[in-house]
Amino acid sequence: MMLSIDATMPERGLDISLRVERGETVAILGPNGAGKSTVLGILAGLVRPESGHAHLAGRTLFDLGAPGPARPAPCWVPPHARGVALLPQEALLFPHLTAASNVAFGPRSAGAGRRESHAQALHWLREVDAVELAGRRPTELSGGQAQRVAVARALAAQPQLLLLDEPLSALDVAAAPLVRRMLRRVLANQTVLLVTHDVLDALTLADRVVVMHDGRIIEEGPTRDVLERPRTRFTADLAALNLVTGTRTHVGVMTDAGASVILPLATDTPLGTRVGVAVRPANVEVSLLEPRGLNLTVFPALVRDLEPRGDVVRVRTDALFADLTPRAIADLDLEPGTRAYFSFDSVDAVTYPL
Ligand code: ADP
Ligand code: MG
Repeated sequence: MMLSIDATMPERGLDISLRVERGETVAILGPNGAGKSTVLGILAGLVRPESGHAHLAGRTLFDLGAPGPARPAPCWVPPHARGVALLPQEALLFPHLTAASNVAFGPRSAGAGRRESHAQALHWLREVDAVELAGRRPTELSGGQAQRVAVARALAAQPQLLLLDEPLSALDVAAAPLVRRMLRRVLANQTVLLVTHDVLDALTLADRVVVMHDGRIIEEGPTRDVLERPRTRFTADLAALNLVTGTRTHVGVMTDAGASVILPLATDTPLGTRVGVAVRPANVEVSLLEPRGLNLTVFPALVRDLEPRGDVVRVRTDALFADLTPRAIADLDLEPGTRAYFSFDSVDAVTYPL
């Protein structure tokens, strides 16, 4: 075990327990206010929880004991002595230093000489495809370039644990893919906790994900398992999947709301078990007349709202949501309050035990 942390912080509603293996990248997913940054702050030594302990590579980062009055002498290792590097949401570079001097800061602090730390800075800048930026100051860097330099600076300190807080969220859509590809390469050899609310970051960068909600971990597992077979409505929303839960019957699933979902018979979920059915919103059809088909599951519903999302419009109801083209929206004359039939074919449904 490379990293373990157990911590509570009642004033932020936080109570978590998390383990990370050496070389693993774990994504922490969750909405604003879930407690993601707080977890990183606690590990970096910037935020002090009320109780708990954390260990990194056999060393104690902090040990504040169990909640309650009987406390051992608390142990709290200061940030610079933890072997932990935190990359905050906005790249924080020293404005008066060049990119190379920013990156050299870690090796310098660790006692390397000027020449040696400069050589290391160039090495890490090369790793993030930014060696040509070595002589620039932060004001001469774009957002994506500054983020590259910030990643190089974090890596140059050779941390045993790298903490990334939404590293791509401050970048414009054009810059994000390149930085994501760079991260995918350089994170492969590191032990990383990556906070994100973007499922694409998790899918491309993380071996495992934990989903946080209200200060707690509500789901965790290998990235694809969690994001393709969500167990909670909450994770399904993050993964942009429809999730229907219910009990397996001989024709499909009886939902908790009493509706029937049609599924293929061949399945590994025994009759009577609790199952989830996940359906992509692009696979949900919307029609004004009731559609018929042996393998169709149909939910009549009122359109609650229409949300433009790039090329498609997400049509939400209290049951399913569907992604339609603006053209289809116009053809169906959909607007909030329209009554329509939302349907999907059993071949487009993924069923799994909960
Ligand atoms: P996330 O990173 O998932 O958006 P945070 O860890 O920033 O969530 O916040 C978790 C909770 O802690 C929220 O309720 C937030 O309001 C609170 N919180 C965050 N930062 C502070 C702070 N500096 N002081 C007090 N409360 C905070
Ligand atoms: Mg945050």
